[in-house]
Amino acid sequence: MTVLTERTAPPPDGINPARARRVVRALYAGPTLTAADLSAPLLALPDGASGEFSLPGATALAGIPATVARWSGLGIAGVKVFAYGHDRDSRATAALAPGNRMVTAISAAKATAPDTAVTTEVCGCSWTDHGECVLRTDDGGIDLDATYRLMAAMAVQHADTGADVVSPTAMLDGSVRAVRQALDEAGHRDVGVNPNLAIHTSLYGPFKTLMNTDPQSGHRRGLQLEPGRADQDAITQARRWVTEGADSLTLQPVMTAVDVLLRLRDDQRVPIVAYSTSGEWRAFSALGPAGMLEYMTMLKRAGADQILTFAAEATATLLETRRA
Ligand SMILES: [Zn+2]
Repeated sequence: MTVLTERTAPPPDGINPARARRVVRALYAGPTLTAADLSAPLLALPDGASGEFSLPGATALAGIPATVARWSGLGIAGVKVFAYGHDRDSRATAALAPGNRMVTAISAAKATAPDTAVTTEVCGCSWTDHGECVLRTDDGGIDLDATYRLMAAMAVQHADTGADVVSPTAMLDGSVRAVRQALDEAGHRDVGVNPNLAIHTSLYGPFKTLMNTDPQSGHRRGLQLEPGRADQDAITQARRWVTEGADSLTLQPVMTAVDVLLRLRDDQRVPIVAYSTSGEWRAFSALGPAGMLEYMTMLKRAGADQILTFAAEATATLLETRRA
């Protein structure tokens, strides 16, 4: 009888860390997460806003330069700007007002860190008094044409202010085409369009509460992907978005949708942003920065080109500490 010993056992298919030298393990370690893989949500809040809780990246306008400078110094590649809307009405009038909180935030971020990619949320929900992403008809339906016009005008305004990428957030078919056309006509052919693939989830909760964008009734759920079908429907929607002119995509959430991320990666060659939402940040905070780093490494391995996360600063800080 032949006994398998260390000398005669077949070699492992991969690297065997018990036997590999440190330099060899490093040689074959594969891609690792870097700060350049990370983007941070920048939540522009009213002066003096203090809710019962907050989220990383939530700041009054005066705090934006310091926040963005810190992130840029850590090597974080991008920010996505969300604004807490003011003067809300049924037509989202303030969304297009000169000098509103969104455009002021974009200007401050770009002035502070010109090399940081600035993406903006293009959506009605921060600016409508009913909190819906879309504009309504008198009988409560979706006013499609008015919503397209709003999103197109917001996108152009953001691009005029310095945004590098605009992100139509409501999953309204036709909106990406409207935004792309408006940008082209305004001379912003080099501004990207990154629409959402948003799956219905409780994991948006902390963000919606902080930003006061949680309509009690209306169309939002109908505009999101149903969790049970999200794997198929995300691919269908992604193909539509790309046909309409999207040049990158955001998938949210990801903690409960890694299977969707994998399928999407197999189907799409455009860059995919994995948006680790506010509820994920809250849940994963219990694991600490090291656990969060492992989570993000997994998202990169699964095919995310960029990870938008409330833990960007904590993770980039940990990466810097480990490198030192
Ligand atoms: Zn919205």
